[in-house]
Amino acid sequence: MSTDNNGSMSQSEYDDRIELSAGSDWHSRPLTDIYAELETSEEGLAAAQARERLERYGPNKVEAEAGTSLLRILVEQYSSALIWVLIVAAIVMAGVGHTIDAAVITGIVIFITLFGFVQDYRAEQSVQALKEMSTTYAIVRRDGEKRELDATKLVPGDVIFVESGDIVPADARLLEESNLRVDEAALTGESVGVSKETNQVDEGTSLAERKNTIYKDTVVERGSGTAVVVETGPESEIGQIATALEEAEDRETPFQTEMDRLGKIIAGVVVGAVAIIAVAELIVGETEPLQVFLTAVGIAVSAVPEGLPAVVTLSLALGARRMAEQNALVRRLPIVEALGSVDVICTDKTGTLTEEEMTVQRIAANREVYEVTGSGYDTEGEFLQDGEATGEAQVAEILRCGMLCNNVDRGTRERDTDGDETGVADTEQEERTYLGDPTEIALFVAAQKAGFDHEELFEAYPRLGEIEFTSARKRMTTVHETPDGDPVAYMKGAPETVLKRCDRELIDGSFVELTDERREAIEAQNEDFAEDALRVMGFAYRPDVPTEQATRPDETVEHDMVFLGLQGMLDPPRPEVTNALSGCLNAGINIVMITGDNAVTARSVGDEIGLRSVTVISGLELEEMSDDRLAEVVEDVDIFARTSPDHKTRILQTLQAEGHTVAMTGDGVNDAPAVKNADVGVSMGIRGTDVTEQASDIVLLDDNFATIRDAVKGGRRIFDNVRKFVNYLLSGNGGEVTMIFTGSMLGFGLVITPIQILFINIVTDGIPALSMGVDPPAKDIMDRDPRPPDEGVITDRIVTSIVGIAVFMTICLLPLFTLNFYGELVPGYDVLEAVAGWNPGYEPSRELAQTVVFTGFVVFEIVRIQAIRYRYGLGLFTNRWLVIAVAVAVTLQLLVLYTSTGQLLFDVEPLALVHWLQIGVAAVVFALLMSLFVKVQDQYFERY
Ligand code: ATP
Repeated sequence: MSTDNNGSMSQSEYDDRIELSAGSDWHSRPLTDIYAELETSEEGLAAAQARERLERYGPNKVEAEAGTSLLRILVEQYSSALIWVLIVAAIVMAGVGHTIDAAVITGIVIFITLFGFVQDYRAEQSVQALKEMSTTYAIVRRDGEKRELDATKLVPGDVIFVESGDIVPADARLLEESNLRVDEAALTGESVGVSKETNQVDEGTSLAERKNTIYKDTVVERGSGTAVVVETGPESEIGQIATALEEAEDRETPFQTEMDRLGKIIAGVVVGAVAIIAVAELIVGETEPLQVFLTAVGIAVSAVPEGLPAVVTLSLALGARRMAEQNALVRRLPIVEALGSVDVICTDKTGTLTEEEMTVQRIAANREVYEVTGSGYDTEGEFLQDGEATGEAQVAEILRCGMLCNNVDRGTRERDTDGDETGVADTEQEERTYLGDPTEIALFVAAQKAGFDHEELFEAYPRLGEIEFTSARKRMTTVHETPDGDPVAYMKGAPETVLKRCDRELIDGSFVELTDERREAIEAQNEDFAEDALRVMGFAYRPDVPTEQATRPDETVEHDMVFLGLQGMLDPPRPEVTNALSGCLNAGINIVMITGDNAVTARSVGDEIGLRSVTVISGLELEEMSDDRLAEVVEDVDIFARTSPDHKTRILQTLQAEGHTVAMTGDGVNDAPAVKNADVGVSMGIRGTDVTEQASDIVLLDDNFATIRDAVKGGRRIFDNVRKFVNYLLSGNGGEVTMIFTGSMLGFGLVITPIQILFINIVTDGIPALSMGVDPPAKDIMDRDPRPPDEGVITDRIVTSIVGIAVFMTICLLPLFTLNFYGELVPGYDVLEAVAGWNPGYEPSRELAQTVVFTGFVVFEIVRIQAIRYRYGLGLFTNRWLVIAVAVAVTLQLLVLYTSTGQLLFDVEPLALVHWLQIGVAAVVFALLMSLFVKVQDQYFERY
């Protein structure tokens, strides 16, 4: 469940809820009591025990109300007024004894509802599957070690670890905490952070006051904590109120809104046309009133694209599903439309453009530089000076600092091994690995290369407290107890930040004052590392920490420190990024790198991957810039370096104010506002925090920039496809209405029967339209500029197409009608017959003429579908579903024409070769007219 849904519960409901929950007493019991009841300890459960409990308690998730949805989808099919018009028509028909017509209409009603039902159901299934893909992970202690696993597998008794940015995975009683503050708005409606502590509280304490308990689906704002799970899934506090919160708002997509609006416009036009036809027919008096009624119904149903919203939803859902297979998980369907308009992508560097498998390569300590050998997470490696191994002594202090001021742990992680690349662990396969931030893992591994053992080191230097790393602080400090019993602080962070807090440096075991010269030399060294695209961190320690600050340290600890040196990490660019980047530039999308890293490193990485990297602005410069000045330059900046998360929001707003549609990536807690406000907010599936994920529209399951490019491509493709079938269906409908209207006005009576129109719209048009929803991307999809954000599905060009096609269809089909209805009335018919010696063997008749028009429409629509696709560079056989759909449509049409049941139901005459020839000639003329028209359109309109 998402915290987005908070809004659906009023404050009084929250208050009631808090009253109600007085029943559970986990907060007021001694921990020993809880351990005894849950048969656990601070060491957590054994894996086997947890498995057994999972069976007993069920998965840790709050069930959505399933079951009712099938019925709801079915009922929704009957919400369209047109279905009711058809039902009334069938009843009227049956009443006046036209049983065949009544049966056919009933059949069609059943078909429409089933068709709509299946589409909506499939769409819903896809959306559901997408929802299930966004798994939340939890860190838990099982079998005495840390594991990262799918949060739905948590059980009461598990010991869990939470830190800032996490969504608390279950209700849990705190065992330890450091500076922990939690936003409990999801539960209490009160969005002020609550500081947590471990003390036991009274039984009557209200939910909001139970400081020793953290609750499922609340958000860790700051700090970290360890806790024992007491309730999971439906038994959790949030689970019990889930029914109130579960109602996820099903907002309409902009597509759907546009389709709905369009439907209404068309309905208006149709009602007008129907009224005119009805009056005309009644005055001429040739047609019986019942037939007039049926004509009206037929036109109404045929002209209104009432199946369109369902087709749109389905193609969105299926498209989104395909995007998920390519690692872009769409959290909000409407975003697909915005994706096609993105013209700026603001991206993080670390992990998105780069691999984020970091390795320390160089260390500057003791005024010397050391090369570190070995690659990746392999713990074998040496420390070389001028190519000679030096041993570890020279770098021991800086490495110790790197391992102590570090939150990495060894543990296991459940991995997605079923090959579906969803990133969702659906097997029990596990991998022993490092759990934590890759920057810290690199430091951890570097220390291991020098023989430091994590457990031994932490035993010798137990941690007393921590001042967290945040992107804004750009540093982190931990306080430890030395083997002598004194508190000592270790700090690591951005070199300039660390250096600012040092007054001495450690040289060969003694403290030496940091002169201005030395500071400059260190900065030059930093730059030197950075120019080689290394990510550089500074290290320092403070041996004389006042005891009173040891356990609850604050920033006052972070001064008078002793500088230890620099470590430079290589974070190689992802190989696929260069390609993806040039693809985006080609598609008219500008790329802006926004990184917390230093300008020199950022520029080197930018150069390597082919970013323009010409204009680089630092966070500091940004802060000094006025809004006007920023607006002037923002479009030319390629890299923003040393930024804090709040800079992202400012950059975003400036770009948006300049009229850009911006996709913005983010991972940390503080990135959430920028991600939320971006036109397309992108979060990281692997590295990102839960909170940013909640704020985002798309999750990159592989954290990879190339996936953003694919998502944009996917978005453009879905949009194209929607536009294609909307164009196709509307122009077809327009043709039918114009044809019937013109025929009626010219006094020809009904040129095609309503039942035939229904058949075309629903079967021979409907099925191919649906398959166009899965058309492959256009050839030029990433060669054209982004679509202007205010450009809807229906462009001016499409409007002219609809009108043009309607006219052309009428021009080409009306002569066929007169030919087969009046025969000799049309000059040339006799000649054709005489010259070619063809005798159709049929007397001209209305049925025959209607059949030719009916079949003509079917053939024209097949020509039309290809003409539309041709503009997107798509050949006939590029979509096998379409080939099948067309084959099905043709087969059904032939069955209608040449079986006695078909003839009976649809009131058709079997066509002879000459009629097919007539239709063929008309289709060729139609195709020629269309291509001429396209040439004219090209003069006045954009390509699509
Ligand atoms: P990007 O914004 O592209 O992801 P980044 O990871 O460098 O890049 P931040 O996470 O904001 O951005 O980090 C900013 C700076 O803080 C880093 O350049 C580094 O110097 C420092 N830093 C990063 N991680 C840590 C950490 N775990 N502890 C201490 N300092 C860190």
